[in-house]
Amino acid sequence: PSGLLAGKRGLVMGVANDRSIAWGIARAAAREGADLAFTYQGDALKKRVVPLAESIGCDYVMPCDVTDPASMDSVFEDISGRWGGLDFLVHAIAYADKDELKGRYVDTSLENFRRSMQISCYSFTAIARRAEPLMADGGSMLTLTYYGAERVMPHYNVMGVAKAALEASVRYLAVDLGPKNIRVNAVSAGPIKTLAASGIGDFRYILKWNELNSPLKRNVTIDQVGNSALYLISHLGEGVTGEVLHVDSGYHVVGMKAVDAPDI
Ligand code: NAD
Repeated sequence: PSGLLAGKRGLVMGVANDRSIAWGIARAAAREGADLAFTYQGDALKKRVVPLAESIGCDYVMPCDVTDPASMDSVFEDISGRWGGLDFLVHAIAYADKDELKGRYVDTSLENFRRSMQISCYSFTAIARRAEPLMADGGSMLTLTYYGAERVMPHYNVMGVAKAALEASVRYLAVDLGPKNIRVNAVSAGPIKTLAASGIGDFRYILKWNELNSPLKRNVTIDQVGNSALYLISHLGEGVTGEVLHVDSGYHVVGMKAVDAPDI
């Protein structure tokens, strides 16, 4: 195969369906010649992920629930046996109780805080630790974050706190793994209508707001996120680690929208 990722082996975690950001990244990576492995969470998603993988000529699909350490262990044991190494991984996994993705952050329950942090933040660290020994020749690890880590966005609540911790963990992991030539980065994607996003209160309004107020006057697609992810997971990004790359039509640079101001 030819392409940016020819001869590279990558693990993609977090495909739920053909709207998943992980799927946009997988499609771009496959187009660039990568060999891919996928994980899915639970049997209900298996029947969606297997045909998607097959559609890009991939038959390497495994279950993985990141709340179960044994399930994470077996993914990396399997990759070690089948491939003997790994060049990149994509972590596109997050969870928070829908009931708390609306209303006030101050009302977050301890149980939901713990679970959101475990799945949306700690799991990336847990995966990184297991992937490290497979990246003996260096590698690239990528996770997905959102602007709600940096600024308060309506209803994002505990996910914003978890993403802030995730972005900090990207920096700590970059320093830990840098000496092994393993790079660790995040893409901060603009809002996209996915299964996970449908749990966020008023999400349609947030999408419209971003479309109207971003410099590019449009929302991003999973293919746009996929294309930018290629830069971080391929040799094009070999000088980049600990970075959060915004793929958000420029929304994060806007302080205030220009309007025809009234006389005051
Ligand atoms: P999605 O619903 O397609 O993907 C979320 C994935 O997380 C699913 O595949 C789900 O199975 C997985 N997951 C949840 N709990 C898990 C567990 N315990 N074990 C294993 N997997 C588990 O939605 P998406 O929007 O593509 O989300 C992917 C990533 O992108 C998330 O980190 C999300 O926060 C992030 N993100 C999304 C947006 C957006 O607007 N959609 C914007 C910025 C960042």
